[in-house]
Amino acid sequence: METNQMSLEFDAKSENEAFARITVAAFISQLDPTLEELADIKTAVSEAVTNSIIHGYDNGPGRIKMECKLEDRDVFVTIEDKGKGIEDIEKAREPLFTTKPELERSGMGFVFMEIFMDGLEVLSNPGEGCIIRMRKHIGSMA
Ligand code: ATP
Ligand code: MG
Repeated sequence: METNQMSLEFDAKSENEAFARITVAAFISQLDPTLEELADIKTAVSEAVTNSIIHGYDNGPGRIKMECKLEDRDVFVTIEDKGKGIEDIEKAREPLFTTKPELERSGMGFVFMEIFMDGLEVLSNPGEGCIIRMRKHIGSMA
């Protein structure tokens, strides 16, 4: 099996959301993804990083770790924060559930991650941060 891995750590600032999504896109471009596959992964990364910034750290200081691993044509992305964590993961993953309606969040981030990726795992405990693991196969249309 051919593997290739990269990891990155950055400040939990909204300015870094585009940085994270573009970096993953650049890394996976070696698999020649379609524009749609690329857009799907960028959206999923963007949702996860935004969640760490606004929910995990409440827009305050913090660090986000991102890892991207290629195994043949499978892309695995992990996004981790050490923020406040999630009380009820099942509920958090439901469409339209948000704990920040006042910020005009729509509660669709996890739904998009699930739709645009082939696998989504959410690991979290209150007070212990959050780990998002996503997987997508590149080239299923080929
Ligand atoms: P949207 O993504 O549509 O703007 P949202 O962020 O509220 O709205 P989701 O991304 O689906 O919706 O997340 C659902 C809920 O899960 C959030 O409202 C928040 O309570 C919780 N959550 C998600 N990610 C984290 C995280 N990294 N740390 C703590 N809580 C989180
Ligand atoms: Mg969200």
